[in-house]
Amino acid sequence: MPPSSAQNGRTATAAKPRRRRGEGQWALGYREPLNKNEENKKNDDGLNVRDRIINIYSKRGFDSIDPADLRGRFRWFGLYTQRAPGIDGGKTAVLEPEELDDRYFMLRVRIDGGQLSVAQLRAVAGISRDFGRDTADITDRQNVQYHWIRVEDVPEIWDRLESVGLSTTEACGDTPRVIMGCPLAGVAEDEVLDGTPEIFQIYEEHIGSPLYSNLPRKFKTSIAGCSVYCTNHEINDVAFVGVRNEAGEAGYDLFVGGGLSTNPMFALRLGAFVRPDQVSEVWAGVCAIFRDYGYRRLRTRARIKFLIKDWGAEKFRQVLEEKYLGYALPDGPAPVLDQGLRRDHVGVHRQRDGRFYVGFAPKVGRVSGTSLDRIADIAEAHGSDRIRTTADQKLVILDIEEDRVESITAALEAEDFQVRPSTFRRQTMACTGIEFCKLAIVETKGRASTLIDELEKRLPDFEEPLTINVNGCPNSCARIQVADIGLKGQLVMNDRGEQVEGYQIHLGGGMGLDAAFGKKVRGLKSTAEELPDYVERVLRRFQDQRKDGESFAA
Ligand code: SF4
Repeated sequence: MPPSSAQNGRTATAAKPRRRRGEGQWALGYREPLNKNEENKKNDDGLNVRDRIINIYSKRGFDSIDPADLRGRFRWFGLYTQRAPGIDGGKTAVLEPEELDDRYFMLRVRIDGGQLSVAQLRAVAGISRDFGRDTADITDRQNVQYHWIRVEDVPEIWDRLESVGLSTTEACGDTPRVIMGCPLAGVAEDEVLDGTPEIFQIYEEHIGSPLYSNLPRKFKTSIAGCSVYCTNHEINDVAFVGVRNEAGEAGYDLFVGGGLSTNPMFALRLGAFVRPDQVSEVWAGVCAIFRDYGYRRLRTRARIKFLIKDWGAEKFRQVLEEKYLGYALPDGPAPVLDQGLRRDHVGVHRQRDGRFYVGFAPKVGRVSGTSLDRIADIAEAHGSDRIRTTADQKLVILDIEEDRVESITAALEAEDFQVRPSTFRRQTMACTGIEFCKLAIVETKGRASTLIDELEKRLPDFEEPLTINVNGCPNSCARIQVADIGLKGQLVMNDRGEQVEGYQIHLGGGMGLDAAFGKKVRGLKSTAEELPDYVERVLRRFQDQRKDGESFAA
């Protein structure tokens, strides 16, 4: 059940405003919008744009769209204008937003828990072919993202998605985004518990609710009982991590306040044990604290990580229990993290029911409607109705009988979906980049693909775990700060003194036992052209100098 209005802190909004300039916290009385984004949200809830898209904009076309909807509320349904073609990265920061806008949209479909049936995958694939020029990317939050979408086609796209139980509601915007879950939930031999019921309880009870549709900024959730922590609780706004308490009962350890971007922070552990039947209301309590106490004055300080950094975990837990839940949560154990484990679930592995799952690697998450349809065909032909997206831009097919494993592996590899990929194919990710993203400074997916090809040729025997994450700007959509090698797109000078696309290098990031942000070494930059040479040099030096068993991060 959602918390009552008294529990969720709305009564606190009656408090008198302080005189000194505040951070825009509603619960302290700062209800007047303090910036344009807040003003837009106050003027009209983002969820209300759905009716206008169906009844007005899709009928009258792009030019009829109110600018406040186009650059604001459309996001509440996963729609962003994509970058107009031909604008180089040097113009990203100097042009007005409307000069960067194309008349086409990126559309993000939320795949909560990364869970798809064959019918759902076919629907996703068909939309890509019919309306998105066959584009589709698997994102590192388990979503599928299209490009080239016209506003005229959005109602038909929503009809098709909703007919198979999918949606784009709150896929972007200042809202609770997709809820991440382990792709192996319910089948993994060594999971602590299956988070699927909790994920879909939250989805049913809270996603699309006006109670949580005006948050200070985005709010990212992960819920998993995965033994390798594949949904990266360390960098989610709220995360429920499967643990067993002293009595052997399975439940969750609660983390709050992780996030990357320009001020990366790891989530803090509250030390509370949450039973599965409490997850939805605890989630609602954390989300409501963010709504009520989150800093709305500056967008750059509006994530929940800044609030919990100021409050500390103890105060946050106290406010959650006393003001929002109305009861205390018991203390609980911390998850036992390991170091250097691959979290991606690629390869062939046995499920606990004796069947197998097959995880495979499209290059940097790039697929197409046509290839997604092929994956649906292959899954169905091998007796599976369960396909999963991962937090590493990969896919997994569940429930394969042992005598079909060889056949499905061959069928996937024939489509270049590698089940036994090189380290480089397996562990390189890239964000959208300048091809479609208005914030981008450089190209990413194409460059990362070239880098994979080059490293496979130059270092064919390299087998150690190694993550290479490529971003097109200082935001961290592809998690550069927690990669072994993080590449942040920017303009750099080449040998001839020309400004060209390149990357600032971050080295030695990682998650797990020794979670750390990669170090940005001053002056350590590479032009895009020289990138394969640079990475090859770093990796050869690592191979030459490593001691037995030493990982790259160490
Ligand atoms: Fe766009 Fe930057 Fe995010 Fe890449 S990291 S998708 S360039 S905002």
